[in-house]
Amino acid sequence: MKWEDNVRKVIPYVPGEQPNKENMIKLNTNECPYPPTPNVKKAVEAFDTEKLRLYPDTNATPLADALSDYYHVDKKQIFIGVGSDDVLAIAFMTFFNSNKKILFPDITYSFYDVWAELYRIPYQVQPLDEEFKIRREDYMIPNGGVILANPNAPTGEQTDLATIEEIIQANQDVVVIIDEAYIDFGGESSLPFIEKYDNVLVVQTFSKSRAMAGLRVGYAFGSEKLIQYMNDVKFSFNSYTMNLPAQVFGAEAVKDDKYFRETVQKIVHTRERVKGELRELGFVFTDSMSNFIFATHPRCQAVELQNMLREKSIYVRHFTKERIDNYLRISIGTDAEMDTLLGELKAYIQSK
Ligand SMILES: *Cc1c(COP(=O)(O)O)cnc(C)c1O
Repeated sequence: MKWEDNVRKVIPYVPGEQPNKENMIKLNTNECPYPPTPNVKKAVEAFDTEKLRLYPDTNATPLADALSDYYHVDKKQIFIGVGSDDVLAIAFMTFFNSNKKILFPDITYSFYDVWAELYRIPYQVQPLDEEFKIRREDYMIPNGGVILANPNAPTGEQTDLATIEEIIQANQDVVVIIDEAYIDFGGESSLPFIEKYDNVLVVQTFSKSRAMAGLRVGYAFGSEKLIQYMNDVKFSFNSYTMNLPAQVFGAEAVKDDKYFRETVQKIVHTRERVKGELRELGFVFTDSMSNFIFATHPRCQAVELQNMLREKSIYVRHFTKERIDNYLRISIGTDAEMDTLLGELKAYIQSK
């Protein structure tokens, strides 16, 4: 068909599957196993549906205020989007317009190359080293921008702030994006760099540590100038992206710091315990600072383990990608869920 010559053709990002089985154990998309703060439930119950008659606040003011208070960052330095995927997509469109290639690791969040293709941004992937760590010198070459997930996905590997800062210093002529989807699980945030460098954008989300993947809230911190440029693009695209309930319920989640800390602490505690048990079963994995463990077993194929677990309604993620196709990414669930998983893995491995 002739008209197809002028279609923008893309190979879409493939999210982890969302099965809906009773009694399933879902450890494949790094969601939080605990509910959001009870204050969100109260806010839902108290929500005045009459307000839905009007368009929502284009600046998501209730949420922007809560984030500004919590992180001690001026509202002019915060961009709010519908999940961090939305924030990142707008950041790619806004900042990566050079003829030079943008840089990111070969193994990282698999949406980066999808956006680069979608927006026709030239890009180059830089291989992680044998231990799945980034090599700083790989990001010290001429480029059109840099994006790093820290901790990285799906490896969970953290890059220390000294390395991040060296990379930022070497890239003062482009925008450097740090995707901190997993930062609350023990990593060190690059947030302080936004005051020192006006070309650094730090992106976070409510989907993992704040137990609200279903609400779709993401945000970014940067210099006033960076945020203004992103808002200009966003308002040229769609002004009313974030609905009113998300603004109100999101703000409640931010305000309950105690609940947030307790939830994250529980997940970190479970993660460290599970690391010990997986090690005993012979698994090899990176020292994940996220809410998942990226593991391989010397005697069992990852796909084989994934299929075995699926039959028991336990879902984990596998990537058919070179270098990592014998790894499983296992999200941290509740202690009971992880015990069930470990029991199945143990029985299977011992039967081999
Ligand atoms: C989960 C994830 C995101 C996107 O999360 P949203 O649900 O869109 O906020 C972005 N980056 C990384 C590395 C992620 O793992």
